[in-house]
Amino acid sequence: MTEISRIFNIQVTDIKSLDGDINYSNIKYAITDNEGKKYILKIYPDKNELIQAKEETRILNKIGKTLSFSVPQTIETSDGQLFFQHEKGEAKLLSYTEGDFIANVHRTPQLLFSLGEKIAELDKALEKIESPVLASRRLFWDLQHAPFSYHKIELIREPEKRKLLYYFFDRFQHIVLPQLHQLRHSIIHGDLNDYNVLVKNGNIEGFLDFGDSTYTPLVNEPAIAMTYMMLDKENPFEHILPLIKGYQSIHPLTNLELELLPELITTRLCISLCNSAEKKQMGQDTEYVLISEKPAWELLEKWITVNPLKIKGLFLEAAGFKTENKQDKRNDLIAARTNMAGKSLRLSYSSPVYMTAAAFQYMYDEQGNTYLDAYNNIAHVGHCHPKVTGAIAHQSRILNTNTRYLNDLFTEYGSRLLQYFPAKLCKVFFVNSGSEASDLAIRMARTYVQRKGVIVLEHGYHGNTSTGIDISSYKFDGKGGKGNPAGILKLPLPNLYNGKFISGKEYAEDAIKSVREEIEKNKNPCALIAESISGCGGQVPLATGYLKALQPFLESFNIVTIIDEVQTGFGRLGKYFWGFEMHDIIPDIVILGKPMGNGHPIAAVVTTEVITDAFDNGMEFFSSFGGNPVSCACATSVLDVIEEERLQENANQVGSYFKNKLKELQQNHKSIGDVRGEGLFLGIEFTDPSGAPDTTTAAHVKDELKNNFILTGTDGPYNNVLKMKPPLCFNKFNVDFFVDQLDSLMKSRK
Ligand code: PMP
Repeated sequence: MTEISRIFNIQVTDIKSLDGDINYSNIKYAITDNEGKKYILKIYPDKNELIQAKEETRILNKIGKTLSFSVPQTIETSDGQLFFQHEKGEAKLLSYTEGDFIANVHRTPQLLFSLGEKIAELDKALEKIESPVLASRRLFWDLQHAPFSYHKIELIREPEKRKLLYYFFDRFQHIVLPQLHQLRHSIIHGDLNDYNVLVKNGNIEGFLDFGDSTYTPLVNEPAIAMTYMMLDKENPFEHILPLIKGYQSIHPLTNLELELLPELITTRLCISLCNSAEKKQMGQDTEYVLISEKPAWELLEKWITVNPLKIKGLFLEAAGFKTENKQDKRNDLIAARTNMAGKSLRLSYSSPVYMTAAAFQYMYDEQGNTYLDAYNNIAHVGHCHPKVTGAIAHQSRILNTNTRYLNDLFTEYGSRLLQYFPAKLCKVFFVNSGSEASDLAIRMARTYVQRKGVIVLEHGYHGNTSTGIDISSYKFDGKGGKGNPAGILKLPLPNLYNGKFISGKEYAEDAIKSVREEIEKNKNPCALIAESISGCGGQVPLATGYLKALQPFLESFNIVTIIDEVQTGFGRLGKYFWGFEMHDIIPDIVILGKPMGNGHPIAAVVTTEVITDAFDNGMEFFSSFGGNPVSCACATSVLDVIEEERLQENANQVGSYFKNKLKELQQNHKSIGDVRGEGLFLGIEFTDPSGAPDTTTAAHVKDELKNNFILTGTDGPYNNVLKMKPPLCFNKFNVDFFVDQLDSLMKSRK
């Protein structure tokens, strides 16, 4: 005390130790003199920090007097020095600014506007400063060095959280990094978090702690301040706009800077969360480190639900820039498509959606809207999952070739995939689509059995190849179809809701009778092909016991069972990884597709040794793209995500929650005739008061849900079944939102 009094020619009456930022080694004390005036004493035991501290002092003392608010000013010793030797290291005495942390103050739009103005004023003053010392700093907090934090993501325990960080860091890498060189660079404060901004009497009083200042893109300054102002806010995007307006009124950001601003804010959140994870691992998870962790996760989770175009548009408009309206392009695209491909290529919905991007269970259109995706089962582990996009990008930079060369990925993925099957199903062939897989499956069955006929189920769909159409009642019985082709035996769909019989046993007996007649008449069936839950038939689970009773009969005539898992496989059904498990059978051939590559074209036929041996009749099996290294890397990452994020379990839990809520809804809405399905593969059948199919209501509900930004589809022979088959990361909040919307739109229809 006496030493400080002597050095500064004041009378110190009180010294209190202050908690410091654990990222730095400096020691801080609050000092009061006999006149009640306060100061901060900062001591630097680490010489490396001292170089930076001296530069900071030089800069702050230079700009301090020109600003309309306060920044820490270093007080000269009685002999005119800025630093002095303390027993723990070199030290300086700083002016103290009274005020409340903005963290603890109600933030009105006026206050945020004023904060924007003051940050801009500071940045304008710092812009004129040259500092090789600060320019040579490499801080992990500096947004331009975000890649320094990537390796910390793996320290986060929850995979569903990790995926968010990978996703947003990927955006930094692909959107920000390539444009970084075009941004204005300047010295900035670099950490205007809510404990570094002081407020007094409703005004911004000053900024503290310049210990993170670096030479970096200027826009990082408002980005960091905005990050903290957005935490814990119901509508963070609207809430923050006054800050942008305030900044813009003093030191305008360019169009490009504003466009990158959202990406930089999420980058800051990611760096902060990586830092928390690292500190936790090191046992340094103090309140100070973790204070923003929970709201930071909440903000990132909210961010995903908002279309990036919307956020960008809000920021640009707040700054006075015009954003383009893409409505005209949508109409042009519709016309160009029809012109290019003809009308057999259809669009969903009476007013089609123009998608520009997607993330996990959300899809974004060109208007800035976000759709909750309750429909696209291809994006099985979530749209644009960073593990999957990363695997594809990575492998496509190394090797992509065909299976006539040896490579590890093919065998590694193939043997891993087979582990999900019963031992009997021990061979796999890779192709590029579900259609190709069903085509190949039929060819294999024909080769093995040496007969050509196929038994199919009513309303089934198995693909768009010529064989695919021939075995799909959905197509040959549908519009433009020519009815049952020769050699195809069609059996009734074993539907327990409104079908011909009321039990699987009766359906099986009926099927056995028809197959027996077919054998006697034509002697030709080689295979039965079926889904375990008929998707195009209207999400109809095949009656329990049907396949179980039918399969032994088929086997006795050497007729193989092909199960099409293109829709139902890979854990979608929750309780079952494969749909055939639900029917307690082991098929001879299984067809895989859609979810296998999360949208990347890879599909497969899985079968037995005897069938594979018979198929090896001298003719080579080859698919140019099937099983290529990129596809295998992609499909491997899909399995990784399913396992890591326990998506099958999620499908089970969220799926039964969803089904129960829909069943509750059924009590209140007479037009819901049936709610059915397994896991996250569900259907709602709409019926009129007489129990007849209600196609109009189904179409209305589908379109209205879409108008309320929820994607579903309709199917079934009467198009009266609403289908829900979302990415498996669908959660209970999504279900609640879905069911609330459905409830209110159905109430309004009554
Ligand atoms: N089988 C089923 C059950 C399907 O739903 C589909 C596609 N809707 C296919 C096969 C054909 O798959 P793809 O479109 O990949 O050729």
